[in-house]
Amino acid sequence: MSLQPRVLIVEDESPIAELIAVNLRHNGFQPVWAEDGVSAQREMDAVLPDVILLDWMLPGQSGIVLAKKWRADARTRGIPILMLTARGDEPDRVAGLDAGADDYITKPFSTQEMLARIRAVLRRRAPEQVSDSVAIGALTLDAATHRVSWQGQALKVGPTEFKLLHYLMKHSERVHSRSQLLDKIWGDHVFIEERTVDVHVKRLRESLGAAGTMVETVRGAGYRLTAQV
Ligand code: CA
Repeated sequence: MSLQPRVLIVEDESPIAELIAVNLRHNGFQPVWAEDGVSAQREMDAVLPDVILLDWMLPGQSGIVLAKKWRADARTRGIPILMLTARGDEPDRVAGLDAGADDYITKPFSTQEMLARIRAVLRRRAPEQVSDSVAIGALTLDAATHRVSWQGQALKVGPTEFKLLHYLMKHSERVHSRSQLLDKIWGDHVFIEERTVDVHVKRLRESLGAAGTMVETVRGAGYRLTAQV
């Protein structure tokens, strides 16, 4: 990451984008503004940002479509995405997380809240510098190469799900509450709801396919990774 993290703002309303850009610039970030999906893609092709602020409602491709597209692309997969949504759009938030957004910010938001969330996703993204591997039954995870496999077959696992799986595998057979997982995986969870954990667990199970049943829900307690399935 550069000294001045590059923030791509994808927002069609120029007064909002301008306000965000000014505040980012004053706080040591390097903002880049794109007003729609096409120009955002052009910016992504030129220089990858460190974080993306992505408006939900955009002309042409919506924020959800863009988030899904960037999550599916190996080159852009690891870039944190903060979704901008309107107040009260609860289903939107879940859909945003499902599309691969790391977090969301509800408009209108304060500069301090925006900066805190940007810093939090950048912190979370910083590599943990762990190079160990772990195997539970036929499920293996190699932290150095970021590879997960089941019965020798490589699985595609997103960055947050990878961290979640790594933690669960390193502490298998134990039950972890949602708030413990937020502490361990997300680190700074001041602005993140416990439901976020459920969204990522769901996504992790889907990525694991047949091994998904190893991630157990322990009713009223949390989650556990077990070899006993
Ligand atoms: Ca908009």
